[in-house]
Amino acid sequence: MRKLVLLGGGYGNMRILLRLLPNNFPKDTKIIIIDRTSHHSLKTEFYALAAGTTTDKHIRVSFPEHERLEAVYGEITKIDRKEKVVYLDNGKKVEYDDLVIGLGCEDDYHNVPGAEENSYSIQTIAKSRTTFETLCGLPPGSVVGIVGAGLSGIELASELRESRSDLKIKLFDRSPRILRAFPEKLSNYVKDWFVKNDVDVIAESNITMVEPTKLHNHDQVIDVDAVVWTAGVKPVKVVRDMDVEQDKKGRPLITEHYHLLDDENVFVIGDCAASDLPATAQLAEEQAERVVKVLKYRWNNEPLPEKLPPIKLKGFMGSLGKKQGFVHLADTTVTGRIARLMKSGLLWMYKWQNDSQ
Ligand SMILES: Cc1cc2nc3c(=O)[nH]c(=O)nc-3n(C[C@H](O)[C@H](O)[C@H](O)COP(=O)(O)OP(=O)(O)OC[C@H]3O[C@@H](n4cnc5c(N)ncnc54)[C@H](O)[C@@H]3O)c2cc1C
Repeated sequence: MRKLVLLGGGYGNMRILLRLLPNNFPKDTKIIIIDRTSHHSLKTEFYALAAGTTTDKHIRVSFPEHERLEAVYGEITKIDRKEKVVYLDNGKKVEYDDLVIGLGCEDDYHNVPGAEENSYSIQTIAKSRTTFETLCGLPPGSVVGIVGAGLSGIELASELRESRSDLKIKLFDRSPRILRAFPEKLSNYVKDWFVKNDVDVIAESNITMVEPTKLHNHDQVIDVDAVVWTAGVKPVKVVRDMDVEQDKKGRPLITEHYHLLDDENVFVIGDCAASDLPATAQLAEEQAERVVKVLKYRWNNEPLPEKLPPIKLKGFMGSLGKKQGFVHLADTTVTGRIARLMKSGLLWMYKWQNDSQ
């Protein structure tokens, strides 16, 4: 049997399974999915887990079941392309013929002293649980610093505000205005929500050091009881450690057909692949669609088209607590309750489409 091995059960590889199962792959091929957890975690909802407004079970989806699909669990520690073997920390090793690397990303601390040691994270489900325990266990009136006002920082700050009205929340934004890359109307809407809900947004900040109970913003020292880092990501270590050509962020460079420049059997998708587009679940899924296309051309012994259809992202959605949100689609911005309902609806649809149990 040929082995198609999927590294990481994230958004990208879940889309591959959705397209290939139950009968859209050759009879002589077996699929093996490897992840450190026994389920697909809905990373886009980790902010709610950390804020204590959703449960762990609500943001997990079981991997599908199929007679030619095997799930292997453990921490992937090494990808050996010469031997075509993936190594896990529990001593297991898995051989592959074709490999799709969709292992996602982790926090990038940008060499800020103390940031890694003294801040909490929402990059993995396990870390989000730890962050939840800390944030929700803080005594009344405690100060929480959230470093980074991208989508995940904004969503965490607003969800935490709804979860704990007694906390002082400080959101540190590097830009002069929140969501600077998007229309001013959207920035103003988010800014107004934070003013109304007593979240302190500190614009043009530059965090230079994190201590256990202190944040250094430029030259100012701010007392905090907990810090959550949402200020940038880089590919996971096992991908950064690969001996391949990478971009400045350490993401492997890939071809038009989503495989490594020097290895047509190793595809890379999602947050850990080099791309000019923003790293999103949407991008991971679109890349997965194209990997499926490439595999099908090969399985049918058909020549590959020189170029695959370009990826156009549809837009993005964000929430401000459970009742308000924003959607930016096809150059149109929708804010308020309807936008929030659209986001909840999308989550429901996603779970319905992917959850086999
Ligand atoms: C709070 C938050 C909100 C977000 N909101 C949105 C949004 O609204 N819309 C959007 O499009 N995107 C959003 N994103 C980004 C989105 O979550 C990512 O772009 C997406 O998850 C990337 O998918 P992926 O398939 O590359 O990897 P992931 O979904 O991250 O999956 C990677 C998988 O690999 C596994 N893994 C990693 N390393 C190892 C290892 N060494 N061994 C074994 N297993 C491993 C992990 O357990 C995980 O299952 C958000 C991100 C965050 C943090």
